[in-house]
Amino acid sequence: MRILENGRVASKGYAMLDKNAKFTPFEFSRHSVGERDILIKIHFAGICHSDIHTARSEWGETTYPCVPGHEIAGEVIAVGAGVSKFKVGDYAGVGCMVNSCGECEACKLSQEQFCQKGKTIFTYNSKDIFHGGENTYGGYSNNIVVSEKFAICVPKNAPLEKVAPLLCAGITTYSPLKFSGVKEGFKVGIAGFGGLGVMGVKYALKLGAKVSVFARNENKKQEALELGVSNFYTHTDANIIKERFDLIISTIPTFYEPSAYLDLLKFGGEFGIVGLPPHENMPSISVKDFVYKAGKRVYGSLIGGIKETQEMMDFSLKHAIYPETELIKPSQIDEAYEKLTSGKAKFRYVIDMRGE
Ligand code: NDP
Ligand code: ZN
Repeated sequence: MRILENGRVASKGYAMLDKNAKFTPFEFSRHSVGERDILIKIHFAGICHSDIHTARSEWGETTYPCVPGHEIAGEVIAVGAGVSKFKVGDYAGVGCMVNSCGECEACKLSQEQFCQKGKTIFTYNSKDIFHGGENTYGGYSNNIVVSEKFAICVPKNAPLEKVAPLLCAGITTYSPLKFSGVKEGFKVGIAGFGGLGVMGVKYALKLGAKVSVFARNENKKQEALELGVSNFYTHTDANIIKERFDLIISTIPTFYEPSAYLDLLKFGGEFGIVGLPPHENMPSISVKDFVYKAGKRVYGSLIGGIKETQEMMDFSLKHAIYPETELIKPSQIDEAYEKLTSGKAKFRYVIDMRGE
């Protein structure tokens, strides 16, 4: 890894230069390795649907060049003098955040994604106020510098290719299942059976729930049934579907009718939303539905804090709960995006960055 004269770290990655572009090789530099920072050589980077929303400016105007990637797994190759959590040679993971204020109530509760001072720094497309306001660049690259506090410990015997998607898809589904207290006997529905959805199914089953899937076609029905899913629905008609759920989690990235899922909840059941469709096609629930379909709770969930992410990592490795992955080369990112937005993808594409 090349350190520049000013201490900054030379990096190579893949960027989109505008919202209609294709990915192109991109050279840049990262801030220097500070006292409490680590430098990670990235081995694998998962492709999350959030990468697509951002790269295509579907969630508001993105800053270009945009190097997405917040499912990062690799090897520590340098550490700052004050680092205690990692040493050179360790494996580490980085998810959706790289910093926050550390002082507010949310940060003290390790809910850094909700930093009350608005200082959550996301892994890409975020203004890094702790480093002169420069734009952050994500994991479709050969290295990353991150505060040790925001890096997740990964044991050396872990399968890194499978570990990468845990850093977002894993924690984003683990967190609402925990928030809703899912346990033995719960009925859980997972809407959207892609990268996040399959993790939600696996965790819910491990926690002892009976799980059903809501998808938009039958393409992955077989995979769902093989995992142990009870029912696989391609509609949400409460007149036809007889079971009622304690919890339904939506991972849907496109427009859909959220209130239809409220009809499928038990009294006191919960609808946890993590899927975040494009702003210009955003679903909503009307006040009328909240009132007439009352006795149910609707909440949103954003990834999970660092403490819970480490807990999710340890839980996943202990029980060998891994994503379904397909390894691709950096030259195949555009093709993967196309498949992920046209119903042709299975679950998680993971970019092999080891040759970069
Ligand atoms: P994927 O593309 O991997 O999976 C999405 C799945 O939803 C696909 O299987 C797709 O079907 C399915 N789907 C699409 N439309 C519908 C529909 N109307 N009804 C049922 N299923 C549908 O995406 P990810 O799992 O990576 O991400 C999902 C969403 O979650 C994205 O919006 C992403 O931005 C968001 N997200 C949110 C986070 C948070 O913290 N809240 C963190 C990470 C992601 P098909 O197989 O046919 O394509
Ligand atoms: Zn993500």
